[in-house]
Amino acid sequence: MYLKISALDSNRNNRFIVTFEDFNLNRQLLNAIADAGYETPSPIQEQAIPLVMQGHDVLGIAQTGTGKTAAYLLPLLMRIKYAQGQHPRALILAPTRELVMQIDAAISELGKYTDLRHVALFGGLGPKAQIAALQKGVDIVVATPGRFMDLYLKGEILVKQLSTLILDEADKMMDMGFMPQINRILEVIPRKRQNLLFSATFPPRVEKLSENFLEAPIRVEVTLQATTAERVEQSIFELPNFRSKINLLEYLVQGAEDFQRGMVFVRSKEAADNIYKFLKRKVVTDEEVRVIHANKGQNTRINAMEAFKEGKVRILIATDVASRGIDVTQVSHVINFDVPLIYEDYVHRIGRTGRANQEGKAITFVTIADEYHIAKIEKIIRLTIPRAPMPEAVEIPETPFEEKQDMLREIDEQRKRDDPNFKGAFHEKKHKKVVISKSQKKPSTLTKNKYSKRKK
Ligand code: AMP
Repeated sequence: MYLKISALDSNRNNRFIVTFEDFNLNRQLLNAIADAGYETPSPIQEQAIPLVMQGHDVLGIAQTGTGKTAAYLLPLLMRIKYAQGQHPRALILAPTRELVMQIDAAISELGKYTDLRHVALFGGLGPKAQIAALQKGVDIVVATPGRFMDLYLKGEILVKQLSTLILDEADKMMDMGFMPQINRILEVIPRKRQNLLFSATFPPRVEKLSENFLEAPIRVEVTLQATTAERVEQSIFELPNFRSKINLLEYLVQGAEDFQRGMVFVRSKEAADNIYKFLKRKVVTDEEVRVIHANKGQNTRINAMEAFKEGKVRILIATDVASRGIDVTQVSHVINFDVPLIYEDYVHRIGRTGRANQEGKAITFVTIADEYHIAKIEKIIRLTIPRAPMPEAVEIPETPFEEKQDMLREIDEQRKRDDPNFKGAFHEKKHKKVVISKSQKKPSTLTKNKYSKRKK
């Protein structure tokens, strides 16, 4: 029997916004969270983090794209705090080399202000470097079950200090035939420990595993309701930069496309405020537009939503935190000014339109740096979103140098995430060219970036 908490149920009503500060995480973690650009916890984080911090065993049903990795890493990093001793205190098992690398990268990112040592173990290459890393002393091991068992049997890993075991994508590990290794691991590690099990699906065999593996677990679940997506008319505009997004927004809001009552979703509080100011200054009257995000007080948010529901306000600019908490539907347009990084938010956002046979449109602005995320969203909703042609009236300005660099850097990060061997085109592939100036007869170094002349 599980005590079940459904993130979606608890998110349906208005409530106080949960922030990362509410979890009593330490300053090192809060700073890393801010650096990563996470503004508010995702539903799975909101549910799982307090429970894991209280020491419960947790069963999490959540897919990639829900923020599940940080949901278990943040409390883990909080608990083991700093480097200690020689042997690992936490073990995270995952089915594939790619996922192991991704989790390891997430530890680097979220643990950047700690001195915690972590090692990624996976097959496909010789174990020498991995063994050397283990011998230096380690706090967290992230591993595929096969490689972990190989190195354990070689005597390279001492497990007696392990006090946390996390199984990520348990369903996939079972599909891939890792059960014998997982059972062996369970036999050799200390019995007194905290266990967390994450799985995208919950078929009977995962249920059985969780019964054997977890003690009095609490179940948390987020479900991606991909079917909503089929009822809404969706489209994508491919845009080169922020400025052209603003121009297109102005065009849509000013009545083209029959814009009656719409929500505009953005990724950050700053962007929300900027767009709000822009629309007020140039496009609409003060009464027509409001903005809501985590920094706005509960009353301001409720007032804005009420005014929007009653039709007094035509445009509501919101971050995802607002999207989750509020019960506003039947809007004519949802505009994703930014693509959400928590992919399930896409489904929540567009679910605000097209209800009960009403006409509804969900329009998403996509830059080259968003293509990676849109591909993942399209996979979740099992649809290819049609690309719309740019209206001629919308001006498309040049992309400023800084903005272009930021986008290319982001694309590099994305490629590194999917391919651990990718070294990065943006930073490393700069080639240095020595030029001897005739007048000086002294060598000077020019650095040429191969993307610097890239055309959109
Ligand atoms: P995951 O489901 O763990 O694979 O995470 C999906 C993506 O969401 C990753 O790119 C994370 O860096 C990002 N992410 C995780 N938590 C948050 C958050 N609270 N806000 C914004 N992005 C997040």
